[in-house]
Amino acid sequence: RTHYTSPAIRAYLDDLYLPPDPDLAYAVAELDRAGMPRIQVSATEGKILYLLVQMIRARRVVEFGTLSGYSGLWILKAMGQDGHLWTCEYNPEHARVARGVFERAGYGPQVSVFEGPGLQSLDKLAHFAPFDAVFLDADKSGYARYARWAFEHLRPGGLIIGDNTYLFGYLAGRAPDHQWNAQAIEAMRDFHAFVAAHCTAVCLPTPDGLTVGMKPY
Ligand code: SAM
Repeated sequence: RTHYTSPAIRAYLDDLYLPPDPDLAYAVAELDRAGMPRIQVSATEGKILYLLVQMIRARRVVEFGTLSGYSGLWILKAMGQDGHLWTCEYNPEHARVARGVFERAGYGPQVSVFEGPGLQSLDKLAHFAPFDAVFLDADKSGYARYARWAFEHLRPGGLIIGDNTYLFGYLAGRAPDHQWNAQAIEAMRDFHAFVAAHCTAVCLPTPDGLTVGMKPY
């Protein structure tokens, strides 16, 4: 299949679909200012999150992997004033920066930043279930466990969304190495097997794969 995309086409479309937003720009600027890695979702992926959240009228969303709050802001903006985001981050500096980003954008009361490893926060987070969507963007080896937990705590019609589900190219056809060992690859395959078996789902062909699965009604 020919791919008809080009930098000119992307620039033309980004101009139409991704108008500048000062809160989102600030979240990205904070990454640089705080010396954090630029590993946030792309603007297009953020807009996909935004659209999905609005399509299901989500009001209660969980995120694993906060970074500076860039994707969290997309989700909060999509939910509007009566939404709540529980976002989990194990790096205290990232959590601190994100809190500032959320506060500055006026979403402070609508966000709970859970500090600590995601998998160790699941029991605490479960108290706030049921959720409308769970976005996975933290430890990739945990995706299968996060997905099972999400499925259990989502309402029917709720979404499991996972970024980097090509596992940086290691998902298939590439030998494990020091970066991604066989166990990590197997864990991501287990994630896909679970989502494919239990959800109405697709893995969108973004640069590193964005999986969207809906818990059936
Ligand atoms: N979702 C963010 C965005 O698009 O703006 C990007 C998240 S970044 C790819 C991954 C984040 O997950 C980092 O801030 C990292 O510190 C955090 N993280 C990694 N492993 C984690 C874990 N086990 N529990 C919680 N957070 C973790």
